[in-house]
Amino acid sequence: MPIQKNEGILLRRQDLRETSILLTFYTKDFGKVKGIVRGVRGGSRALSVGAAYEPFALDEIVFYERKDREIFTISQCDLLNYFSPIRASLDKLSYASYIVELLDSVTSLSDKNGEVFDLILKSLDLLSGDSSPRRVARIFEIKLLGLLGLMPNMSECVNCGDNSGANPPRFSLRHGGLICRKCLDVDKMAVSILPGTVKYMVHVRSSPFEKAAMVKVASEVGKELERLLRRYLDYHVERRLKTVEFIKEIA
Ligand SMILES: [Zn+2]
Repeated sequence: MPIQKNEGILLRRQDLRETSILLTFYTKDFGKVKGIVRGVRGGSRALSVGAAYEPFALDEIVFYERKDREIFTISQCDLLNYFSPIRASLDKLSYASYIVELLDSVTSLSDKNGEVFDLILKSLDLLSGDSSPRRVARIFEIKLLGLLGLMPNMSECVNCGDNSGANPPRFSLRHGGLICRKCLDVDKMAVSILPGTVKYMVHVRSSPFEKAAMVKVASEVGKELERLLRRYLDYHVERRLKTVEFIKEIA
């Protein structure tokens, strides 16, 4: 791979020995990229390394391959957007941190998806504005599940295809979608779900982000959505996220 230049959102920064740092980006054209930047820290004095190296900064990076390694060398890293309004609010900051951490945990190196890059950028833009951070996080989760092919089936019973909605269906984490009353035997652990939650998830999946971000939901739907998506992501991503705990703590 020759020298490449691309835009990327910084997902994670790890300090290495001496003056180097390891950065994980989600880039526009190359998906998730990991690279080392040398000579940016003040040795043992652990100086601040600049705005371009802060999580969820949008940077333009120049990088090239190292022999036989999946970790690149990043030779240049220029800040394009620091998303200052997010950093001025602890609430917004914690949701933005959660969003990049979630993206980092569900994607692997070489996963390439321009729509995922657009999604994260859109989410950070909306978090910078007046949109509710909680709502932006829920829409991000639903749309990300869709882009990763993990979206639960919310329009019919995953077992028999029934979509009459005659009786309120239940939600199966294991089978990834709704289960009608006749099919409850396939998952005894299926949980109840509000019609409003089903409707909202279908709406978000099929609407542009900005439009979805304007829809307010009843508080019980909001709470159920948060709980259900959390359990679904935990179940399917199999990883607890540190930031979830942090958001709970500051809430
Ligand atoms: Zn069924």
